[in-house]
Amino acid sequence: MQMQAAVDVIVIGAGIAGLCAARELVAAGLRVLVLDKSRGIGGRMATRRVGAAVCDHGAQFFTVRGDDFAAVVTAARRDAAVATWCNGFAHMEPDGSLVAPGDGYPRWRGSRGMTDLPKWLAERLAAADGRCEIRTQATVKAVATVVGGVRIELEDGTGGRVTLFARGAILTAPVPQAIELMAAGGMLGPGGGTDAVARDALATVAYDPCFALMLVLDRPSRVPPPGGIQFAAGSEPIAWLADNFQKGVSPVPAVTVHATGAFSREHFDAPPEEVAGMLLDAARPWIDGDPATAVVERSLHRWKFALPTTVLEEPLVVVTEAPPIACCGDAFAGPRVEGAAASGLAAGRWMVRTLA
Ligand SMILES: Cc1cc2nc3c(=O)[nH]c(=O)nc-3n(C[C@H](O)[C@H](O)[C@H](O)COP(=O)(O)OP(=O)(O)OC[C@H]3O[C@@H](n4cnc5c(N)ncnc54)[C@H](O)[C@@H]3O)c2cc1C
Repeated sequence: MQMQAAVDVIVIGAGIAGLCAARELVAAGLRVLVLDKSRGIGGRMATRRVGAAVCDHGAQFFTVRGDDFAAVVTAARRDAAVATWCNGFAHMEPDGSLVAPGDGYPRWRGSRGMTDLPKWLAERLAAADGRCEIRTQATVKAVATVVGGVRIELEDGTGGRVTLFARGAILTAPVPQAIELMAAGGMLGPGGGTDAVARDALATVAYDPCFALMLVLDRPSRVPPPGGIQFAAGSEPIAWLADNFQKGVSPVPAVTVHATGAFSREHFDAPPEEVAGMLLDAARPWIDGDPATAVVERSLHRWKFALPTTVLEEPLVVVTEAPPIACCGDAFAGPRVEGAAASGLAAGRWMVRTLA
């Protein structure tokens, strides 16, 4: 087992919450290591190439209502990393009628896909005088408290095990995964040091899964402008359908279909081809022509922890004060991209205050 030099704070997860937390930490002059198990960064702000197409298959857009996140988005917009997509989407009503968009507040997107905002944040962090390293393909296996700090056990991309130490840690993995990491480090048992109220609050957080089907088309889709349809609650099996070409992220026609939580739960372990077939059938009205020829390529992604069904009131949960360890992300104080960003910023500030 290899030992590695200490940093001030280890952030687990390079999604929007983790990167926003790191932004606050680095701005305060702390040394930060961000670890993510994936090959790329962005977490559920995910963009993928499918054949000649580019598809957002996680978050589709984001809102900007709070001042904190607005400051981040304004700076990202100056660098052309984000743009407004539209001011609302068509709604599919339970009776099958389509209501035109009309609520008027801006929906934002990454310029070339949703990962553009996390990538922009990561580039700024990398430019911070060497104070921040972002390591991908680094899967954290356990988080433990030790005298004077936190011990993180991780597996690198080659299967090697590494032990890291820091003064504090911020966990942004979906809450059930964060709980597993703390349990593996012995933090949740008797004498593990975890605040009982915090532990009980975290245990209430649950998520819906979501299937995302990406379809590359040989001609434009039938999705009405501006390229997204939100389906009424209770519609099955589709919750959302988007045209990545109209959105401005794909050079060729391609749609993303998101299944409802109920459908995704019911078919979570079904063969992917079967699930893709059911969703393709349901998406037929939005595909011009016979799907057998109009769909030139398809890809199905299964999100296990897609959207929180329980959101805690606080922007972060402090697991221990000494050493400082907190959980944050989209299950805290407000869901979705904007809520996750605000939660990450709040957790970063809390850590700066606590370490000071
Ligand atoms: C299908 C779908 C559609 C959505 N649509 C929208 C939308 O239209 N608008 C909107 O605002 N939001 C939407 N969301 C929600 C939005 O994507 C999330 O709220 C937000 O991206 C969460 O950010 P986060 O940083 O909290 O978590 P994540 O983005 O999940 O980041 C957590 C990171 O932790 C990493 N991680 C986990 N475990 C470990 C470990 N053991 N070791 C190292 N790294 C680890 C993960 O790889 C991940 O990168 C959608 C989500 C999904 C899945």
